[in-house]
Amino acid sequence: MSKDATVLHVDDVHKSFGGLAALSEINLEVKAGTTHAIIGPNGAGKSTLLNVCIGRIAPDTGAVVFDGSVITGKQPYEINQLGVVRVFQTPEIFPDLTILQNVMVPAFAKRDGAFRLNAMQRLSGQREIREEAEHWLADVGLGGKNDLVAASLSRGDKRRLELAMGLVQHPRLFLLDEPTAGMSRHDTNATIDLLMKIKERGMTKVIIEHDMHVVFSLADRITVLAQGQIIADGTPEEVRGNPKVQEAYLGG
Ligand code: ADP
Ligand code: MG
Repeated sequence: MSKDATVLHVDDVHKSFGGLAALSEINLEVKAGTTHAIIGPNGAGKSTLLNVCIGRIAPDTGAVVFDGSVITGKQPYEINQLGVVRVFQTPEIFPDLTILQNVMVPAFAKRDGAFRLNAMQRLSGQREIREEAEHWLADVGLGGKNDLVAASLSRGDKRRLELAMGLVQHPRLFLLDEPTAGMSRHDTNATIDLLMKIKERGMTKVIIEHDMHVVFSLADRITVLAQGQIIADGTPEEVRGNPKVQEAYLGG
């Protein structure tokens, strides 16, 4: 894939819930190797947009194109198998399993092309998978905690665990929904450092965030949503000075 290749193309997507236009006329391009942030006040439509991209919500009109192929209408697991990996917002760890087992589940699923729960039943500690899981746990700063039960982790460590569960799938497009939501400043900064490290590897990412500090630290490009519409799109410098953006945040 060339450097300027478009990994994700959202093409004129509309989605209403009853009378509420959650997304109107959404057009978006995410380029290979970039970190693209989607920001906007609560209720702007950010999570809905992400859910459209991963196949959990069908748009009323419009299409999502991943790596040149239309993925609209595919099942979430099919989109996941193509390498579109989403984490956060809805915690999806297995609370009763250990940290290591939690990361082994998606690693199995990735290797076998099987659905997560089927893979879970076959958790038998195969060495390769275990080593890969251990690698990603160390990578996110959870090395040495492998045998803790996931439910016992702090909020910050649960986020790290979810990141490892995403990374073990080798995402071709990594979608993060509010990675620092509910975190202390200390945990937020640690998460930014981790995301910076991932960014340096050239992984293509979409980050949904309401924390401006996080966005301006990480994003190559920012799309601003308000009330289901794109009100600004550009580099962090372009977006920062945009009066419409300031208005949406102050009024939101
Ligand atoms: P954000 O993530 O930017 O905070 P959402 O995408 O979650 O916003 O929501 C956008 C709007 O769509 C909100 O007004 C929300 O209440 C509404 N909404 C989201 N999901 C549903 C749903 N499944 N049914 C009805 N309304 C929804
Ligand atoms: Mg949301």
